[in-house]
Amino acid sequence: MRGTRQAEALVAALADLPGFRSAQEIHAELRRRGERVGLATVYRHLQVLSEEGSVDTIRDASGETLYRQCETSAHHHHLTCRKCGRSVEVEGRAVEQWARRVARDAGFTELDHTVELFGLCPQCARA
Ligand SMILES: [Zn+2]
Ligand SMILES: [Zn+2]
Ligand SMILES: [Zn+2]
Repeated sequence: MRGTRQAEALVAALADLPGFRSAQEIHAELRRRGERVGLATVYRHLQVLSEEGSVDTIRDASGETLYRQCETSAHHHHLTCRKCGRSVEVEGRAVEQWARRVARDAGFTELDHTVELFGLCPQCARA
């Protein structure tokens, strides 16, 4: 993204948006705030932030990448509402143990994994 001011505006918008958001939604929020920035630029910048590890990404059911500024940089998982995008960070101790065990049994090293949970949050389930 050209200029640090635009980059800062993007980070500020991300911090204010609850839950995981698509690049289009983040772009719309920036436009709403009067930022004159193109969608391609937003995509590029989100890519850089995610490579730096300053934002967390997940893929929704349709395969679209969603972004969020996470509360922790430590390894964690998400429980995300597929309707409103609200998300909570969860630990998965049983998952971590299972992943280590199956990898070790198969002789794999340098293990990494992604586990994301999607459902309806209590508010959306009630509506
Ligand atoms: Zn997170
Ligand atoms: Zn919801
Ligand atoms: Zn894990």
